Amino acid sequence: MSSLRAMTNASSPSQRLLILGGTADANRLAAAVAREPRIDAVLSYAGRTESPRPPPIASRIGGFGGVAGLVNYLREQAIDRVVDATHPFAAQMSAHAVEACAIAGVKLLALERGPWQRQSGDHWIDVDNIEAAVAALAGTPRRVFLGIGRQNLAAFAAQPQHAYLVRLVDPPRGVLPLPNADIVVARGPFDRAGDRGLLQRFGADLVVAKNAGGDAAVAKIEAARDLGLPLVMIRRPCVPARPVVDSVDQVMEWLAHGAAPTERGV
Ligand code: NAP
Repeated sequence: MSSLRAMTNASSPSQRLLILGGTADANRLAAAVAREPRIDAVLSYAGRTESPRPPPIASRIGGFGGVAGLVNYLREQAIDRVVDATHPFAAQMSAHAVEACAIAGVKLLALERGPWQRQSGDHWIDVDNIEAAVAALAGTPRRVFLGIGRQNLAAFAAQPQHAYLVRLVDPPRGVLPLPNADIVVARGPFDRAGDRGLLQRFGADLVVAKNAGGDAAVAKIEAARDLGLPLVMIRRPCVPARPVVDSVDQVMEWLAHGAAPTERGV
């Protein structure tokens, strides 16, 4: 609480904060900074989701135009600090943030949950990337739950022998780039019993997931565990080293005092 008091002290200057979003954690952080009158924050979305939840702070939508575009934005908007709260698989945006903040002399902190850890009884097949996940699906036809979002679906067309169940935030605009796929449109956070039921109704015998970490999307991992299903787990991509915390409270502490945690990259 002392940190919040420090932030709301009338003598402390206001801060211009950019939050790179697209995640449940970014939304939680936006809600927290909305309660701090001395933080003037904007939440940035890539624009992938058609109807993001209305944010409690100012927002903008769309790419910045690479590193140079982000540097310009930071300067034009007089941004003091950036919190990268993007998804751990949004590696390009995170790399751009590291580079642009260094050029513009803006402090950067990443808000990122640690990866999910394998537990006893789990049948994880760890792979390095989407291509390796596709390769891991070679073989006899199976019923596969693809809990990886929309962006990488086309790659799985290379394994057309399977029946797929795909969960998407928005209904697809056209035909999915994947033959033999059922679609469920739903927005997280999901719960364990609900995901267990989903997998059972579909008759899934394999799950594919990105190791996002956190609690918003962990239900499918727990459901696969409950049902004893094998799970192809895609490791996180590499991101340049930057200071990282894993809770909104730690971000708020940093905004109040500015103490940078140890640098971490994946
Ligand atoms: P990416 O590959 O790292 O980024 C591609 C480009 O999209 C970036 O270079 C940037 O364009 C733009 N961009 C990404 N995030 C942005 C943001 N928050 N605000 C403004 N521009 C952004 O990212 P991605 O994997 O396509 O993910 C896009 C968004 O979806 C991210 O915000 C991420 O948090 C969210 N998301 C991603 C996943 C996933 O599995 N990848 C899952 C859930 C949510 P410019 O170069 O033009 O600036």
